[in-house]
Amino acid sequence: MDGFADNGEVEVIDQPVVGPHERQVDLDAFAHTARTAPPNDNLAGRLGILLNTKAVKLKRYRSAVKQTLAYFVAVGALAAIAHVRAAKTLDIYFIDVEGGQSTLLVTPAGQTLLIDAGFPGSGTFQSKPADPLDARDAARIVAAARDARVTKIDYLFITHFHADHDGGVVELAQLMPIRTFVDHGSVVPEAELTVPGTQDAFSAYAAVRAKGRHIEPKLGDRLPLKGVDAIVVSTEGSTIVKPLAGAGGRNPVCAPSASAAQEPHENPRSTGIRLQFGKFRFLDVGDLSGRPLFALACPNNLIGPVDVYLVAHHGGVDAADPATFATFHPRVAVLNNSPVKGGAPEVFASLRHVHGLEDVWQLHRSTNPGAENFEDERIANLDERTAYWIKLSATDDGSFRVMNGRTGIWKSYHVR
Ligand SMILES: [Zn+2]
Repeated sequence: MDGFADNGEVEVIDQPVVGPHERQVDLDAFAHTARTAPPNDNLAGRLGILLNTKAVKLKRYRSAVKQTLAYFVAVGALAAIAHVRAAKTLDIYFIDVEGGQSTLLVTPAGQTLLIDAGFPGSGTFQSKPADPLDARDAARIVAAARDARVTKIDYLFITHFHADHDGGVVELAQLMPIRTFVDHGSVVPEAELTVPGTQDAFSAYAAVRAKGRHIEPKLGDRLPLKGVDAIVVSTEGSTIVKPLAGAGGRNPVCAPSASAAQEPHENPRSTGIRLQFGKFRFLDVGDLSGRPLFALACPNNLIGPVDVYLVAHHGGVDAADPATFATFHPRVAVLNNSPVKGGAPEVFASLRHVHGLEDVWQLHRSTNPGAENFEDERIANLDERTAYWIKLSATDDGSFRVMNGRTGIWKSYHVR
């Protein structure tokens, strides 16, 4: 898969690899959609349209999800031989979960790392997990996995215990096997006070986690992935104290102290990683904010330059500190915002002054007053009617390409 089109061209969706016993799979609704859709369309968008158009489409949607399950059953048995990756790339899907987080990484070795799983049920902090066939965010994750031709989650990494991150797990676990759970153990009781629903979401998540393998990594630990180096830089409110290779030195643009975290209990406990594939570096610290986010950048630069920074806390106001952007020095910043969640005007303003930043990609156009959105070409969803992803594909020389799922157009970032 992933034969890249050149910059400006579109990627045509290929058909799933099917064997003689999988004819029904070849005819399933998603595959049919891919065959008949215009080439600049994609499965995410088709699913997004299904998800966002009500009664008439519900039957089709449920049928599509059921057939996707059939696909996983059928393909799972042949996964070892069917999983042929033509290009040795690290692929990252920034999945639209409406202001939560779900980021699917597929390594060059074909391992999967899912960072967070979006909201439960209908998509609020108080939603309860329901019929997985009706689950908004879990279905979107399944669609991305389908596009990546992976059939299981090897590592589910939960940055922290809020329902926009751990809420979708109960339903996802019924749609795809999840092998190993990675997180910081448990939630503090105070977290319920700032975000009602946190404790219920955690309990439901922990019950699923109990059925799999569980890792609680410490600072500086590396995730057991082959071919990529994913190091834990924050967890449980603490951060690494020694600079990563390539970092170090005083940060000259630090404020005297950290800006306050909007949510002071669980967000600052986010478990974050810097993942490296060859020369390509990606930073995802979940909703890290307040003092621990500040500590990665000030007074000393502990992270060093990255190629892609998934801006902390969906680009909320507490992720706007210019000192963090100066330290992480990203070529590309990604905002997993919704029209109103994250995407603070202060973050847009900061991003416009980051030295060396080439582009900002947004999952949604922000409607927050004062938010200076970037170009539509870099925005996956212009309103709430669609659920397109942003897909990134990196090679070990440090070059990478990013695709807007809405337009199907890739943009290349060459070795610098
Ligand atoms: Zn969040």
